[in-house]
Amino acid sequence: MTFTGIVRRVDRLGRIVLPKKLRLALGLKELTDPIEIYLNGNDIVLKKFTENMSVLGDLRCLDSFGRIVIPIAVREFLGIESQRDSLEIYCEENNIILRKFEPVCIFCGESEHLTSFKGKKICSTCLNELKRA
Ligand SMILES: [Zn+2]
Repeated sequence: MTFTGIVRRVDRLGRIVLPKKLRLALGLKELTDPIEIYLNGNDIVLKKFTENMSVLGDLRCLDSFGRIVIPIAVREFLGIESQRDSLEIYCEENNIILRKFEPVCIFCGESEHLTSFKGKKICSTCLNELKRA
């Protein structure tokens, strides 16, 4: 699984933009090509739908802006909140994997009690250490 370097915020309707290079990676020719979307552990898997494929999840199409709606059941399961959370986008063979972006402290990797400073996350422990330094 390769991280594409792309992180996208979920919009107010639970949608995420799939950039063109990822649409091509997925093998989509048209925006109207159906995509299967399903959960695999904590990963959201997007797969191009083909004729004789057995469908595990939901079938969705991109809208004219290249956005896909993340099913509400999936968002609820992963605790993804519209307009707050972002998804990291990975590529795996012909699939696209979306994973909830969990910010961590840039110094120690802690994921709780974070505050932002100049666009970076820092935890309260490291912040206190910095203050004393
Ligand atoms: Zn820290």
